[in-house]
Amino acid sequence: MLTFSFANGDRLPALGLGTWKAAPGAVYTAVLEALSIGYRHIDCAPIYQNEAEVGKALTKAFAAGQVDRQELWLTSKLWNGSHGPEQVQPALKKSLTDLGVDYIDLYLIHWPVIFKSGVTYPRRADDYLPFSIDSLSQTWQALEACKTAGLVRHIGVCNFSVAKLRALQSEAGIRPEMNQVELHPYLQQNDMLNFCRDNGILVTAYSPLGSGDRPAALKKAEEPILLDNPTVVRIAEKHGCTAAQVLLAWALARKTAAIPKSVNPERLQQNLSAAELVIDEQDMADIAALDRGYRFVDGAFFTGKGSPYTVAGIWDERR
Ligand code: NDP
Repeated sequence: MLTFSFANGDRLPALGLGTWKAAPGAVYTAVLEALSIGYRHIDCAPIYQNEAEVGKALTKAFAAGQVDRQELWLTSKLWNGSHGPEQVQPALKKSLTDLGVDYIDLYLIHWPVIFKSGVTYPRRADDYLPFSIDSLSQTWQALEACKTAGLVRHIGVCNFSVAKLRALQSEAGIRPEMNQVELHPYLQQNDMLNFCRDNGILVTAYSPLGSGDRPAALKKAEEPILLDNPTVVRIAEKHGCTAAQVLLAWALARKTAAIPKSVNPERLQQNLSAAELVIDEQDMADIAALDRGYRFVDGAFFTGKGSPYTVAGIWDERR
């Protein structure tokens, strides 16, 4: 399996398994199936409400000798309601307990969005706290302490714009090692990739297949979902593979890890095999032309009534 190296030499398997929206019951079977066919990277988060079930599958796989802890890459994330520095280690320890492990390979701040302590889903205006570099920096120091304590091997962020990465870098003792962001042909984020490459930050592509649901905006514009995009489908036909495999091979060719979610055995295998597929320069050029800056996961769910957050503000984009 292709890997991407951190500064200390630790290697992230390029193709991992996403677990968001993997329904209760389904994720246990999917993780066991994934491990049995060779996945060695699982992307988790407490907000997916299934870390304990992922943990059950891991415990079973470890006990059966199917996989060693050291061969497996586990990522988890700090939710928005646990940014208070005193909350970080307890939140991490809950993930460790649920996953049934004593360290996590990569721990990420899930969003540059802050809720009042303990809030999972905000309901009222005062459930939100404004984002500031000051509070981010305090949260980050608590993540650094978790790394120093050996509870996590690497620390990073998700959904950070270049502006927020720059701000965090200027405050950080340990610089962010990963930015996990939405990346696919409709949202290519080349400036972000260049910034991360220049600053030694690895990148993971989430929603690499365009996520599960067909968003209203694409429907309205009568645009095809990514998996049906004619260019992607044509490249798949040329290589005798599936559209999903083209999307994943494209992600890996850009030197980003990719974490497609599936609970279906056939698609799990298909996605893993995409790591063997090589697409050519012409394919890369044709896919480059598909960029339209389109986000499936735009953070609008954090912009409810009374929220200090806006979609443009989260991404530091002018709209
Ligand atoms: P993906 O782009 O991975 O798409 C998942 C959807 O595609 C599911 O409906 C899945 O259905 C289907 N699918 C999977 N494989 C195939 C295939 N080969 N052919 C056709 N359909 C397929 O979307 P996600 O939004 O789930 O992103 C992946 C992961 O990224 C998440 O699960 C999560 O771990 C992470 N993520 C992180 C975020 C963050 O803020 N840090 C935000 C969003 C995602 P089925 O299961 O039935 O196969």
